[in-house]
Amino acid sequence: MSDAITDITIIGGGPTGLFAAFYAGLRGTSCRIIDALPQLGGQLMALYPEKYIFDVGGLPKILAKDLANNMIEQGTQFGPEIVLENEVQQLVPEDGHIRLVTQRGEFLTKTVVITAGKGALNPRVLECPGWDEHYGAEGGVHTHVRQPEDFRGKRVLIVGGGDSAVDWVLGLRGIAREVTVIHRRDEFRAHKSSVQEMRAAAEKGEVAIRTPFEVKEIHGENSCVARVTLFNSETRDEDTMDVEAVIALLGFKPDLGPISNWGLELNRNTIKVSQLMETNIPGVYAAGDVVHYPGKLELIATGYGEAAIAVNNAVHHINPKARVAPGHSTNLKVFSQEEGE
Ligand SMILES: Cc1cc2nc3c(=O)[nH]c(=O)nc-3n(C[C@H](O)[C@H](O)[C@H](O)COP(=O)(O)OP(=O)(O)OC[C@H]3O[C@@H](n4cnc5c(N)ncnc54)[C@H](O)[C@@H]3O)c2cc1C
Repeated sequence: MSDAITDITIIGGGPTGLFAAFYAGLRGTSCRIIDALPQLGGQLMALYPEKYIFDVGGLPKILAKDLANNMIEQGTQFGPEIVLENEVQQLVPEDGHIRLVTQRGEFLTKTVVITAGKGALNPRVLECPGWDEHYGAEGGVHTHVRQPEDFRGKRVLIVGGGDSAVDWVLGLRGIAREVTVIHRRDEFRAHKSSVQEMRAAAEKGEVAIRTPFEVKEIHGENSCVARVTLFNSETRDEDTMDVEAVIALLGFKPDLGPISNWGLELNRNTIKVSQLMETNIPGVYAAGDVVHYPGKLELIATGYGEAAIAVNNAVHHINPKARVAPGHSTNLKVFSQEEGE
C-alpha cells in the first residue's frame, strides 16, 4: 500500500470509469482506476467485444472493443495509476480521506467515484470435480486468455459457445498444438462470421468442434490438468480427452458483491445518487450502470454525462475554490489549445 493520498479513485474501469479518469486528468487531479478484471473496458471488453454499437454520439457504428480501446486511450492520456485484477472490498471513510481495502492491499484517497456497473464481473466457472484443484495458471484451468503464448504447443480444450470462446478457438489456432472447443448446444451464439470461420477451420483440421458436449470431470497429474471426462448433453455418453489446458469462456455473472456492505443507500442492486452524482457518503460519488435516480437509463451515453458531473463535483469537494464547471475542452490549455484555435 502507498501512503500517498490520491485525489480521485475510480472503482471500475468500464466506459464510465474511463471517461471519469479523462475528466479527472483534465481537471489536473491525481487519479487511480481499480478494476477487478485483468483488462479495462468493462462490459464492452468482457461481454460483447465483437458486437457493433450504434448509439454513441458521433460514432454511427463501432465495434465494442474498438470503442473500449478508444476510451482507454482517451481515459489514460493523463497517466492515472491503473490497478487491475483487484476487487475493492471495503470503503472506509476516515478523518479527511477514505480508505479502500482491496484483495491486494489498501489505498487512500480523498474522493471516490464508483463506476462499478453491475458489480465485479466474475467469470462463470464449471461446477465439476477437479475445477477447484486445478484452477489458475499453475493447474492449467483458466477463465481468461491473458497471453496466447501461454498456450503455445499445448493441447487446449475451450469450453463455451459465445464470442470469447469462438474468438479464442481462432486466436489459438496455429499457436496451441491442438484446439478443441466443446459447447452444450450445436448452435454457437457468437458472431455469425466468426462461427463460419471456425467451422471452415474445423473442416481443414485446424481445430476440432464437439457438440453437444459438457465437461463432467477434470483430472490432473502432479497438480496439473491432464485429462477431462466429457459427456454428450443429449445421449449422456461419456468420453475422455487428454489435455494440457482447459479454458472455460462461459461469460460473467454480475454481482454488486462487497459494494452492498459499504453503507451506501441502495435501490436493489444500484446506488442512489443526487443530481450531483453524490451518494449518501460525503466524498463518494457514483456514475454509470451502478447508479439509480428517477429516469435513469443504463446506456454508455448516459454514463459519460454522469461521469463528467461526478468528477467535476469531486474536484469541487476536494477544493471548494475550484469551479465545478470544467470549461470547454476546445479552450483548455491542457490540450495545448488556446481559445479561438
Ligand atoms: C450484450 C450487451 C450489449 C450492449 N449494448 C449496448 C449498446 O448498444 N449501447 C449502449 O449504450 N449500451 C449497451 N450495453 C450496456 C453498456 O455496456 C453499459 O451501459 C456500460 O457498459 C456501463 O458502463 P459502466 O462503466 O457503468 O459499467 P461496466 O461496463 O459494467 O464496468 C464496470 C466495471 O467495474 C468493475 N467493478 C465492479 N465492482 C468492482 C469492485 N468492487 N472492485 C473493482 N472493480 C469493480 C467491473 O469489473 C467492470 O469492469 C450493452 C450491454 C450488454 C451486456
